[in-house]
Amino acid sequence: MLFFTKTALGNLLRKYSTRMYPHVVREPFKDARGELYNEIDKCIFCMKCSKVCPSQCITVNNKAATWECDPFACVYCGVCVENCPVSCLHMKPAYRKAVYNRELIHMQGELKKKKTASAPKTTPEVATAANPDDLGESPE
Ligand code: SF4
Ligand code: SF4
Repeated sequence: MLFFTKTALGNLLRKYSTRMYPHVVREPFKDARGELYNEIDKCIFCMKCSKVCPSQCITVNNKAATWECDPFACVYCGVCVENCPVSCLHMKPAYRKAVYNRELIHMQGELKKKKTASAPKTTPEVATAANPDDLGESPE
């Protein structure tokens, strides 16, 4: 009994081992992978992120220029970020907060205008001459 009282009193005076989450949020660790976000202005809607995602939580519509992610299905692996060809995907250095409703991250972008076809490249002209005299060579 005396041992228990000593332990209980010691615990009362000791600093808390846990936090009152979500009111007190821990600082993320260095290089922590937090919630995914897309710099939609840079996105080219190539669909690479959705193809490589192991949990299939990204949906890209390359005709409507939309990008969607289900953050509740995401496993924070970072594979999509590593494979984005224009580096527009990033992971916030903070964890997603607990919420009551399941909502998708929906982003609307703009389709990039395709470059107009430019004039076909011309190959450098090569001087040809059927007659060696035309090349300025003097006959022997
Ligand atoms: S890989 Fe990058 S550029 Fe391609 S659709 Fe995904 S976010 Fe956009
Ligand atoms: S971090 Fe991983 S699981 Fe999450 S969207 Fe990217 S590829 Fe999918």
